[in-house]
Amino acid sequence: MTALHLQRRGAKVTLIDRWEPGHARAASTDYNRVIRAISGRDEFYTRWARDSRARWLELQAETGQNLMYECGALILATGGHCDWEDATSETFDKVGVPYYRFTPDEVRARFPQFKVDEISYALFEPQAGLLMAHRCVITTVELFKREGGVVKRGTVTTDASERPMLDGRPLEADVIVISTGAWMAEMFPRTIKPISAIMGINVLYTSTPDGSDQFDMERMPCWIDHGQGSFGIPSSEGSGVKAAVVIPNTPIDINNDERLIERQSLNKTRQYIRHRLPGLIGERVVDSKFNQVILTPDTHFIVDWHPEHSNVLLAGGCSGHLFKHGPAFGDFTAGVAMRDYGTADRFKIAGRRKLSPKESPSGR
Ligand SMILES: Cc1cc2nc3c(=O)[nH]c(=O)nc-3n(C[C@H](O)[C@H](O)[C@H](O)COP(=O)(O)OP(=O)(O)OC[C@H]3O[C@@H](n4cnc5c(N)ncnc54)[C@H](O)[C@@H]3O)c2cc1C
Repeated sequence: MTALHLQRRGAKVTLIDRWEPGHARAASTDYNRVIRAISGRDEFYTRWARDSRARWLELQAETGQNLMYECGALILATGGHCDWEDATSETFDKVGVPYYRFTPDEVRARFPQFKVDEISYALFEPQAGLLMAHRCVITTVELFKREGGVVKRGTVTTDASERPMLDGRPLEADVIVISTGAWMAEMFPRTIKPISAIMGINVLYTSTPDGSDQFDMERMPCWIDHGQGSFGIPSSEGSGVKAAVVIPNTPIDINNDERLIERQSLNKTRQYIRHRLPGLIGERVVDSKFNQVILTPDTHFIVDWHPEHSNVLLAGGCSGHLFKHGPAFGDFTAGVAMRDYGTADRFKIAGRRKLSPKESPSGR
Protein backbone atom coordinates (compact mmCIF):
# COMPACT_ATOMS: atom_id res chain seq x y z
CA MET A 1 0.00 0.00 0.00
CA THR A 2 2.86 2.37 0.82
CA ALA A 3 4.54 1.55 -2.49
CA LEU A 4 1.29 2.20 -4.36
CA HIS A 5 0.78 5.54 -2.63
CA LEU A 6 4.39 6.59 -3.22
CA GLN A 7 3.90 5.81 -6.89
CA ARG A 8 0.69 7.85 -6.90
CA ARG A 9 2.52 10.78 -5.28
CA GLY A 10 4.89 10.84 -8.25
CA ALA A 11 7.84 8.81 -6.95
CA LYS A 12 9.58 6.12 -9.01
CA VAL A 13 9.20 3.07 -6.80
CA THR A 14 10.79 -0.39 -6.65
CA LEU A 15 9.22 -2.86 -4.23
CA ILE A 16 11.70 -5.49 -3.03
CA ASP A 17 10.47 -8.61 -1.26
CA ARG A 18 12.46 -11.68 -0.31
CA TRP A 19 9.53 -13.94 -1.20
CA GLU A 20 6.69 -13.96 -3.67
CA PRO A 21 4.08 -11.29 -2.85
CA GLY A 22 1.21 -12.94 -0.99
CA HIS A 23 3.41 -15.71 0.46
CA ALA A 24 2.27 -17.72 3.46
CA ARG A 25 4.88 -16.54 6.00
CA ALA A 26 3.91 -12.84 5.80
CA ALA A 27 1.50 -11.54 8.43
CA SER A 28 -0.73 -10.31 5.61
CA THR A 29 -1.38 -13.84 4.37
CA ASP A 30 -4.54 -15.91 4.91
CA TYR A 31 -8.07 -15.69 3.50
CA ASN A 32 -9.37 -12.86 5.62
CA ARG A 33 -8.87 -10.16 8.25
CA VAL A 34 -11.40 -8.20 10.30
CA ILE A 35 -12.01 -4.54 9.50
CA ARG A 36 -13.72 -2.60 12.27
CA ALA A 37 -13.59 0.90 13.68
CA ILE A 38 -13.89 -0.45 17.24
CA SER A 39 -10.76 0.84 19.02
CA GLY A 40 -11.75 1.65 22.62
CA ARG A 41 -11.21 5.32 23.44
CA ASP A 42 -8.71 5.77 20.60
CA GLU A 43 -10.20 8.27 18.20
CA PHE A 44 -7.20 8.25 15.88
CA TYR A 45 -7.52 4.57 14.87
CA THR A 46 -11.31 4.83 14.84
CA ARG A 47 -11.05 7.57 12.20
CA TRP A 48 -8.30 5.75 10.29
CA ALA A 49 -10.39 2.58 10.15
CA ARG A 50 -13.37 4.55 8.80
CA ASP A 51 -11.15 6.24 6.25
CA SER A 52 -9.60 2.91 5.26
CA ARG A 53 -13.01 1.31 4.92
CA ALA A 54 -13.98 3.95 2.34
CA ARG A 55 -10.66 3.47 0.56
CA TRP A 56 -10.98 -0.35 0.46
CA LEU A 57 -14.44 0.08 -1.05
CA GLU A 58 -12.99 2.48 -3.65
CA LEU A 59 -10.22 -0.01 -4.45
CA GLN A 60 -12.84 -2.71 -4.79
CA ALA A 61 -14.83 -0.57 -7.24
CA GLU A 62 -11.67 0.38 -9.12
CA THR A 63 -10.38 -3.18 -9.55
CA GLY A 64 -13.64 -5.16 -9.70
CA GLN A 65 -12.25 -7.62 -7.11
CA ASN A 66 -14.22 -8.76 -4.05
CA LEU A 67 -11.97 -7.27 -1.40
CA MET A 68 -14.39 -6.52 1.42
CA TYR A 69 -17.61 -8.03 2.74
CA GLU A 70 -19.65 -5.89 5.10
CA CYS A 71 -20.94 -8.58 7.46
CA GLY A 72 -20.58 -6.35 10.55
CA ALA A 73 -18.66 -6.99 13.77
CA LEU A 74 -20.00 -7.90 17.17
CA ILE A 75 -18.05 -7.14 20.36
CA LEU A 76 -19.10 -9.17 23.33
CA ALA A 77 -18.70 -7.29 26.61
CA THR A 78 -18.11 -9.63 29.52
CA GLY A 79 -19.64 -8.62 32.85
CA GLY A 80 -17.11 -6.75 35.04
CA HIS A 81 -14.64 -6.17 32.17
CA CYS A 82 -16.46 -3.72 29.92
CA ASP A 83 -14.09 -0.71 30.01
CA TRP A 84 -12.92 -1.09 26.43
CA GLU A 85 -16.43 -1.69 25.12
CA ASP A 86 -17.86 1.26 27.13
CA ALA A 87 -15.08 3.48 25.78
CA THR A 88 -15.75 2.30 22.22
CA SER A 89 -19.38 3.42 22.31
CA GLU A 90 -18.33 6.85 23.66
CA THR A 91 -15.83 7.20 20.80
CA PHE A 92 -18.41 6.04 18.25
CA ASP A 93 -20.86 8.69 19.51
CA LYS A 94 -18.18 11.35 19.17
CA VAL A 95 -16.90 10.31 15.72
CA GLY A 96 -20.32 9.36 14.35
CA VAL A 97 -19.79 5.66 13.71
CA PRO A 98 -23.09 3.77 13.37
CA TYR A 99 -23.58 1.01 15.93
CA TYR A 100 -26.19 -0.86 17.96
CA ARG A 101 -26.06 -1.81 21.59
CA PHE A 102 -27.69 -5.21 22.11
CA THR A 103 -28.83 -6.91 25.30
CA PRO A 104 -27.97 -10.64 25.51
CA ASP A 105 -31.56 -11.44 24.45
CA GLU A 106 -31.23 -9.21 21.41
CA VAL A 107 -27.98 -10.98 20.48
CA ARG A 108 -29.75 -14.35 20.82
CA ALA A 109 -32.57 -13.17 18.58
CA ARG A 110 -30.36 -11.58 15.95
CA PHE A 111 -27.32 -13.89 15.98
CA PRO A 112 -28.40 -17.23 17.45
CA GLN A 113 -24.99 -18.73 16.59
CA PHE A 114 -23.57 -17.14 19.77
CA LYS A 115 -24.20 -18.45 23.28
CA VAL A 116 -23.97 -15.32 25.42
CA ASP A 117 -24.90 -16.39 28.95
CA GLU A 118 -22.13 -14.46 30.74
CA ILE A 119 -22.26 -11.42 28.45
CA SER A 120 -23.46 -8.04 29.83
CA TYR A 121 -24.14 -6.50 26.46
CA ALA A 122 -22.80 -6.43 22.91
CA LEU A 123 -21.92 -3.66 20.48
CA PHE A 124 -22.66 -4.29 16.83
CA GLU A 125 -20.88 -2.24 14.15
CA PRO A 126 -22.86 -2.93 10.97
CA GLN A 127 -20.37 -1.28 8.59
CA ALA A 128 -17.51 -3.43 9.83
CA GLY A 129 -16.71 -6.71 8.15
CA LEU A 130 -13.93 -8.71 6.61
CA LEU A 131 -11.23 -8.12 4.05
CA MET A 132 -10.14 -10.96 1.78
CA ALA A 133 -6.52 -10.50 2.87
CA HIS A 134 -4.59 -12.49 0.29
CA ARG A 135 -6.70 -11.04 -2.51
CA CYS A 136 -6.18 -7.51 -1.13
CA VAL A 137 -2.39 -7.99 -1.24
CA ILE A 138 -2.32 -9.45 -4.74
CA THR A 139 -4.73 -6.83 -6.08
CA THR A 140 -2.68 -3.98 -4.61
CA VAL A 141 0.57 -5.35 -6.02
CA GLU A 142 -1.05 -5.72 -9.45
CA LEU A 143 -2.36 -2.14 -9.29
CA PHE A 144 1.09 -0.92 -8.24
CA LYS A 145 2.64 -2.64 -11.27
CA ARG A 146 -0.07 -1.33 -13.58
CA GLU A 147 0.74 2.21 -12.42
CA GLY A 148 4.44 1.81 -13.27
CA GLY A 149 5.85 0.29 -10.06
CA VAL A 150 8.58 -2.32 -10.27
CA VAL A 151 8.50 -5.50 -8.17
CA LYS A 152 11.80 -7.28 -7.53
CA ARG A 153 12.81 -10.36 -5.54
CA GLY A 154 15.65 -9.83 -3.08
CA THR A 155 16.64 -10.04 0.58
CA VAL A 156 17.54 -6.74 2.15
CA THR A 157 20.05 -7.04 4.99
CA THR A 158 21.67 -4.41 7.20
CA ASP A 159 25.29 -3.70 8.09
CA ALA A 160 26.65 -3.01 11.58
CA SER A 161 25.28 0.55 11.47
CA GLU A 162 21.84 -0.80 10.37
CA ARG A 163 22.25 0.59 6.88
CA PRO A 164 20.08 -1.37 4.38
CA MET A 165 22.08 -3.51 1.96
CA LEU A 166 21.17 -5.52 -1.10
CA ASP A 167 23.47 -8.15 -2.59
CA GLY A 168 26.31 -7.01 -0.33
CA ARG A 169 26.08 -3.33 -1.37
CA PRO A 170 24.32 -0.39 0.29
CA LEU A 171 20.84 0.13 -1.13
CA GLU A 172 20.74 3.38 -3.03
CA ALA A 173 17.61 5.51 -3.33
CA ASP A 174 16.41 8.97 -2.34
CA VAL A 175 14.23 7.26 0.25
CA ILE A 176 14.21 3.66 1.49
CA VAL A 177 11.01 2.59 3.25
CA ILE A 178 11.41 -0.56 5.32
CA SER A 179 8.08 -2.37 5.79
CA THR A 180 9.31 -5.84 6.52
CA GLY A 181 6.77 -6.66 9.23
CA ALA A 182 8.15 -8.87 12.02
CA TRP A 183 11.48 -9.09 10.17
CA MET A 184 12.13 -5.46 11.12
CA ALA A 185 13.31 -6.67 14.54
CA GLU A 186 16.14 -8.86 13.17
CA MET A 187 17.11 -6.25 10.57
CA PHE A 188 17.30 -3.46 13.17
CA PRO A 189 18.63 -5.08 16.34
CA ARG A 190 19.41 -1.72 17.99
CA THR A 191 16.47 0.39 16.80
CA ILE A 192 13.45 -1.90 16.51
CA LYS A 193 14.23 -5.04 18.51
CA PRO A 194 14.24 -3.24 21.90
CA ILE A 195 10.74 -1.83 21.26
CA SER A 196 9.15 -4.95 19.84
CA ALA A 197 8.12 -8.49 20.65
CA ILE A 198 7.09 -11.15 18.17
CA MET A 199 4.22 -13.44 19.03
CA GLY A 200 2.75 -16.43 17.22
CA ILE A 201 -0.99 -16.72 16.68
CA ASN A 202 -2.72 -19.99 15.83
CA VAL A 203 -5.89 -19.76 13.80
CA LEU A 204 -8.21 -22.64 13.01
CA TYR A 205 -10.97 -22.90 10.44
CA THR A 206 -13.89 -25.11 11.39
CA SER A 207 -16.34 -26.68 8.96
CA THR A 208 -19.91 -25.37 8.90
CA PRO A 209 -22.77 -27.79 9.62
CA ASP A 210 -23.89 -29.87 6.68
CA GLY A 211 -26.81 -28.22 4.88
CA SER A 212 -26.79 -25.04 7.00
CA ASP A 213 -25.80 -21.50 6.04
CA GLN A 214 -26.04 -20.17 9.63
CA PHE A 215 -22.28 -19.64 9.92
CA ASP A 216 -21.79 -17.97 6.52
CA MET A 217 -20.90 -14.28 6.37
CA GLU A 218 -24.37 -13.47 5.02
CA ARG A 219 -25.85 -14.65 8.33
CA MET A 220 -23.13 -14.12 10.90
CA PRO A 221 -20.83 -11.19 11.77
CA CYS A 222 -17.13 -11.13 12.69
CA TRP A 223 -16.73 -11.06 16.44
CA ILE A 224 -14.38 -9.94 19.20
CA ASP A 225 -14.52 -11.68 22.52
CA HIS A 226 -11.94 -10.10 24.82
CA GLY A 227 -13.31 -11.93 27.85
CA GLN A 228 -12.23 -15.19 26.20
CA GLY A 229 -9.11 -13.75 24.46
CA SER A 230 -10.68 -14.60 21.16
CA PHE A 231 -11.89 -13.20 17.86
CA GLY A 232 -13.28 -14.72 14.71
CA ILE A 233 -14.67 -14.46 11.23
CA PRO A 234 -17.66 -16.27 9.74
CA SER A 235 -17.19 -18.60 6.82
CA SER A 236 -16.29 -16.51 3.77
CA GLU A 237 -16.20 -17.92 0.26
CA GLY A 238 -16.16 -21.42 1.76
CA SER A 239 -13.28 -20.85 4.22
CA GLY A 240 -15.03 -22.34 7.25
CA VAL A 241 -15.45 -20.40 10.50
CA LYS A 242 -12.20 -18.83 11.65
CA ALA A 243 -11.67 -18.73 15.39
CA ALA A 244 -8.48 -17.51 17.00
CA VAL A 245 -7.91 -18.06 20.68
CA VAL A 246 -4.88 -15.96 21.51
CA ILE A 247 -2.39 -17.72 23.78
CA PRO A 248 -0.20 -14.80 24.97
CA ASN A 249 3.56 -15.01 24.34
CA THR A 250 3.36 -17.98 21.98
CA PRO A 251 6.90 -18.17 20.58
CA ILE A 252 7.49 -18.31 16.85
CA ASP A 253 10.68 -18.56 14.79
CA ILE A 254 9.60 -16.59 11.75
CA ASN A 255 12.29 -18.03 9.47
CA ASN A 256 12.47 -21.65 10.56
CA ASP A 257 9.21 -22.81 12.13
CA GLU A 258 6.94 -25.15 10.21
CA ARG A 259 3.68 -23.26 10.00
CA LEU A 260 1.69 -26.00 11.69
CA ILE A 261 -0.87 -25.64 14.43
CA GLU A 262 -0.09 -26.80 17.97
CA ARG A 263 -2.17 -29.38 19.82
CA GLN A 264 -2.67 -26.92 22.72
CA SER A 265 -4.24 -24.48 20.33
CA LEU A 266 -6.53 -27.09 18.82
CA ASN A 267 -7.79 -28.04 22.29
CA LYS A 268 -8.31 -24.41 23.31
CA THR A 269 -10.22 -23.60 20.14
CA ARG A 270 -12.49 -26.64 20.56
CA GLN A 271 -13.10 -25.60 24.17
CA TYR A 272 -13.91 -22.07 23.03
CA ILE A 273 -16.31 -23.32 20.36
CA ARG A 274 -18.12 -25.46 22.90
CA HIS A 275 -18.48 -22.40 25.10
CA ARG A 276 -19.45 -19.74 22.54
CA LEU A 277 -20.58 -21.42 19.30
CA PRO A 278 -22.37 -24.64 20.29
CA GLY A 279 -23.78 -25.08 16.77
CA LEU A 280 -20.25 -26.00 15.69
CA ILE A 281 -19.73 -28.78 18.24
CA GLY A 282 -18.57 -31.89 16.40
CA GLU A 283 -17.50 -29.93 13.32
CA ARG A 284 -13.98 -30.57 12.02
CA VAL A 285 -10.94 -28.38 11.48
CA VAL A 286 -10.68 -27.81 7.73
CA ASP A 287 -7.73 -25.41 7.62
CA SER A 288 -5.27 -23.67 9.92
CA LYS A 289 -2.63 -20.94 9.95
CA PHE A 290 0.27 -20.22 12.27
CA ASN A 291 1.48 -16.68 11.84
CA GLN A 292 3.13 -13.79 13.63
CA VAL A 293 2.45 -10.30 14.89
CA ILE A 294 5.11 -7.81 15.93
CA LEU A 295 3.95 -5.91 18.98
CA THR A 296 5.17 -2.54 20.24
CA PRO A 297 4.75 -1.83 23.99
CA ASP A 298 1.90 0.64 23.39
CA THR A 299 0.55 -1.28 20.35
CA HIS A 300 1.01 1.83 18.17
CA PHE A 301 2.52 1.42 14.71
CA ILE A 302 5.99 2.66 13.80
CA VAL A 303 6.48 5.30 11.10
CA ASP A 304 9.75 7.08 11.80
CA TRP A 305 13.12 7.88 10.31
CA HIS A 306 16.09 5.76 11.31
CA PRO A 307 18.11 7.66 13.96
CA GLU A 308 21.36 7.35 11.95
CA HIS A 309 20.31 7.02 8.31
CA SER A 310 18.36 10.06 7.29
CA ASN A 311 16.83 8.50 4.14
CA VAL A 312 15.62 5.29 5.83
CA LEU A 313 12.00 5.31 6.98
CA LEU A 314 10.81 2.43 9.19
CA ALA A 315 7.13 1.58 8.77
CA GLY A 316 5.34 -1.24 10.53
CA GLY A 317 5.03 -2.67 14.03
CA CYS A 318 1.70 -4.23 13.22
CA SER A 319 0.57 -5.00 16.81
CA GLY A 320 -2.03 -7.30 15.33
CA HIS A 321 -4.22 -4.54 13.88
CA LEU A 322 -2.50 -3.05 10.84
CA PHE A 323 -4.15 -4.88 7.97
CA LYS A 324 -7.44 -3.01 8.03
CA HIS A 325 -5.60 0.34 8.17
CA GLY A 326 -3.54 -0.54 5.07
CA PRO A 327 -4.86 2.21 2.76
CA ALA A 328 -4.69 5.02 5.37
CA PHE A 329 -1.33 3.77 6.66
CA GLY A 330 0.14 3.49 3.14
CA ASP A 331 -0.99 6.98 2.16
CA PHE A 332 0.21 8.51 5.44
CA THR A 333 3.59 6.73 5.26
CA ALA A 334 4.07 7.75 1.64
CA GLY A 335 3.50 11.39 2.65
CA VAL A 336 6.07 11.12 5.44
CA ALA A 337 8.51 9.44 3.03
CA MET A 338 8.07 12.28 0.50
CA ARG A 339 8.60 14.74 3.39
CA ASP A 340 5.23 16.33 2.74
CA TYR A 341 4.74 16.29 6.53
CA GLY A 342 6.30 14.78 9.65
CA THR A 343 5.14 11.65 11.38
CA ALA A 344 2.63 11.48 14.24
CA ASP A 345 3.98 11.44 17.81
CA ARG A 346 2.43 8.05 18.49
CA PHE A 347 4.41 6.50 15.60
CA LYS A 348 7.82 7.72 16.77
CA ILE A 349 10.40 5.16 17.79
CA ALA A 350 11.42 6.98 20.99
CA GLY A 351 9.39 7.16 24.19
CA ARG A 352 7.41 3.94 23.94
CA ARG A 353 5.70 2.71 27.10
CA LYS A 354 3.20 0.03 27.94
CA LEU A 355 -0.39 1.26 28.10
CA SER A 356 -3.08 -0.06 30.40
CA PRO A 357 -5.83 -2.08 28.65
CA LYS A 358 -8.08 0.94 29.27
CA GLU A 359 -5.84 3.29 27.26
CA SER A 360 -4.75 0.76 24.65
CA PRO A 361 -6.50 0.87 21.25
CA SER A 362 -6.56 -2.93 21.19
CA GLY A 363 -7.89 -3.29 24.72
CA ARG A 364 -4.90 -5.51 25.63
C1 LIG B 1 -3.49 -14.45 12.83
C2 LIG B 1 -3.54 -12.97 12.62
C3 LIG B 1 -4.75 -12.33 12.62
C4 LIG B 1 -4.81 -10.96 12.39
N1 LIG B 1 -6.02 -10.37 12.34
C5 LIG B 1 -6.12 -9.07 11.97
C6 LIG B 1 -7.37 -8.49 11.76
O1 LIG B 1 -8.39 -9.16 11.90
N2 LIG B 1 -7.42 -7.19 11.36
C7 LIG B 1 -6.30 -6.44 11.17
O2 LIG B 1 -6.42 -5.27 10.82
N3 LIG B 1 -5.07 -6.97 11.35
C8 LIG B 1 -4.97 -8.27 11.74
N4 LIG B 1 -3.74 -8.84 11.91
C9 LIG B 1 -2.55 -8.02 11.75
C10 LIG B 1 -2.20 -7.80 10.30
O3 LIG B 1 -2.36 -8.96 9.55
C11 LIG B 1 -0.79 -7.29 10.22
O4 LIG B 1 -0.72 -6.13 11.05
C12 LIG B 1 -0.36 -6.89 8.81
O5 LIG B 1 -0.65 -7.93 7.92
C13 LIG B 1 1.14 -6.56 8.81
O6 LIG B 1 1.52 -6.25 7.50
P1 LIG B 1 3.02 -5.90 7.16
O7 LIG B 1 3.03 -5.51 5.74
O8 LIG B 1 3.57 -4.96 8.18
O9 LIG B 1 3.84 -7.26 7.39
P2 LIG B 1 3.93 -8.57 6.45
O10 LIG B 1 2.62 -8.87 5.84
O11 LIG B 1 4.56 -9.64 7.27
O12 LIG B 1 4.89 -8.15 5.27
C14 LIG B 1 6.27 -8.04 5.42
C15 LIG B 1 6.91 -8.33 4.08
O13 LIG B 1 8.29 -8.02 4.16
C16 LIG B 1 9.00 -9.02 3.46
N5 LIG B 1 10.37 -9.08 4.00
C17 LIG B 1 10.72 -9.43 5.25
N6 LIG B 1 12.05 -9.34 5.41
C18 LIG B 1 12.54 -8.90 4.24
C19 LIG B 1 13.85 -8.60 3.79
N7 LIG B 1 14.89 -8.73 4.61
N8 LIG B 1 14.03 -8.19 2.52
C20 LIG B 1 12.94 -8.07 1.67
N9 LIG B 1 11.68 -8.33 2.07
C21 LIG B 1 11.49 -8.74 3.33
C22 LIG B 1 8.23 -10.30 3.74
O14 LIG B 1 8.52 -11.29 2.78
C23 LIG B 1 6.79 -9.80 3.68
O15 LIG B 1 6.25 -9.92 2.39
C24 LIG B 1 -3.63 -10.21 12.17
C25 LIG B 1 -2.39 -10.87 12.17
C26 LIG B 1 -2.34 -12.24 12.38
C27 LIG B 1 -1.01 -12.92 12.35
